[in-house]
Amino acid sequence: MYKEILHQTEQRKALLIAVSKTHPVDSILKLYNQGQRHFGENRVQEMLEKHESLPQDIQWHLIGHLQTNKVKLIAPFVAMIHSVDSLRLLEEINKQAVKNNRSIDCLLQFHIALEESKFGLTEAEAIELLESPLFTSLRNIRMCGVMGMATYTDDQEHVRNEFKHLRGLFESLKTRFFSDKPYFKEISMGMSGDWQIALEEGSTMLRVGSLLFGSRS
Ligand SMILES: *Cc1c(COP(=O)(O)O)cnc(C)c1O
Repeated sequence: MYKEILHQTEQRKALLIAVSKTHPVDSILKLYNQGQRHFGENRVQEMLEKHESLPQDIQWHLIGHLQTNKVKLIAPFVAMIHSVDSLRLLEEINKQAVKNNRSIDCLLQFHIALEESKFGLTEAEAIELLESPLFTSLRNIRMCGVMGMATYTDDQEHVRNEFKHLRGLFESLKTRFFSDKPYFKEISMGMSGDWQIALEEGSTMLRVGSLLFGSRS
C-alpha cells in the first residue's frame, strides 16, 4: 500500500506524511527504511519520545491541537506545525523559534467539516488574524498554507466539496495576503479514507495513518 500511495502522491507532486501516532518506533523504522522521511504526530509528548529515539533526519509534522505551554518542547526540531488556529499560539511559536534561532513553518487549520469541533478557524477568523499588525511583526514563523479535515462520511461528493472549499480558502488568502510569498503554497488535506479525492482536489500534503500502519487500538 505504501508504494502505491507514494507513487500517486509523487505523480501529483504532493508530499506524503506518514501519520505514526500510537504506533511504535519499529513500525516507523520499517517505513523509514523504505525511504520515508516525513512523519506526523498529534501529541507533543509522543513526538518528543519518538524524535529522541529515531534517526535525526526524520521530519516531524505536528498535526494535532497544540497547547501554548507545549510549544517550547518541539520548537527545537519540529518541521511544520499544521494546526495553528490562534494568534496567541502563533505568537508563542514565534517566541520559541526566536529562542532556538530558527524559523518555524506553520499552516492555518480550518474547520471545514460538519462535525462539531473546537479546533480550526473560520474564514473570518483567519482574515482577522492575518490582518493584525501583530501577525505581520512575527519574523520567525513562515505561514506556508492551510490545513483541514473533511467530514467522516461515505458521501464522496460531500468530502470533495469540503476539499474544494479549503482550496478556495487557500486561493483567496494567497491572493489577499501572500501573493509575494512563494512559500505560501501548501494545502494539507487527505487522510486514509479520502486521500485520492484530496489529491484530485489539489492537496499538496497528505496525512495518512491507518492505511500505512494499520488501525489504531
Ligand atoms: C490521525 C490523523 C490523521 C490520519 O488519519 P488516518 O485516518 O489514520 O489516515 C490525519 N490528520 C490528522 C489531523 C489526524 O489526527
